[in-house]
Amino acid sequence: MEVEFWGVRGTFPVPGKKSEHYGGNTNCVTLTIPNCKSLFIFDAGTGIKELSNHLMHKNQFPIDCKIFISHPHYDHINGIPFFAPLYMVGNQIEFIGTHQNNSSLEKTIADQMDSVYFPITIEEFSAAVSFHEVKQDETFFIDEVKIQTILLNHPGRCIGYRVEYQNKIFCYITDNELYPENSPCYLAEDVNKLIHFIENANMLIIDSTYLDEEYQRKTSWGHSPLTRVVDVAHQANVKLLCLYHHDPDQFDKDIEMKWVRALDQLKKLHSTVRCIAPREGERIVIV
Ligand SMILES: [Zn+2]
Ligand SMILES: [Zn+2]
Repeated sequence: MEVEFWGVRGTFPVPGKKSEHYGGNTNCVTLTIPNCKSLFIFDAGTGIKELSNHLMHKNQFPIDCKIFISHPHYDHINGIPFFAPLYMVGNQIEFIGTHQNNSSLEKTIADQMDSVYFPITIEEFSAAVSFHEVKQDETFFIDEVKIQTILLNHPGRCIGYRVEYQNKIFCYITDNELYPENSPCYLAEDVNKLIHFIENANMLIIDSTYLDEEYQRKTSWGHSPLTRVVDVAHQANVKLLCLYHHDPDQFDKDIEMKWVRALDQLKKLHSTVRCIAPREGERIVIV
């Protein structure tokens, strides 16, 4: 399986000098799986525009895409109207995600393209577009690929995905708040459930929004402090930990600092977990 990062920032795009190294687009990752006709896309933040440009340049249509939406906060869906394959006859595109309160997955995506907010509505998609609603703790298959879901700790309903193919495991866990163990909100059973879900993952992409000192001012915002992320990845025996969903006020150097601190913590734990902070455009083969 091959993973490519098209946007690694959370919450809001970060253009300019702050983001020359890691890139400034919001969340979007692709997973290409051998013998699977579908391209898996995780979230459709502004990074999906780069993916769209790439696919248009390659010009190998028709294509089949599965777009897994973690949740419909702006930074995870507002690239959708700019994904050109949606407007091409012959492409098959399935959105996978969960409902929000009384709003279906289709409605949450359609609403941001209501004519008040955007000049093109989803009625104008020419591809064969479908919507697959999933619940938490669900297992389903796409071809030979096994997919499982988990409900994450974030305002609204946010879904994490575990993808398994030929004994290789890829997990996509954003946005999620791991409470410090001394927090009144800490629930060991929730943490254990997540650890079980990501156990032995060859690659874990996970919300690592804050340095611990930043988190102190942003508790209950639905994002994790770094040390908790590293602890959980270590306990789950993850092979490769990818720091992801960086705060828009962080400069490249702050993301690098998160990475250095994560390496430090792993060293102290005598951990076998490898850790990277992937940058936009980075491609990684899962081994
Ligand atoms: Zn987000
Ligand atoms: Zn969110």
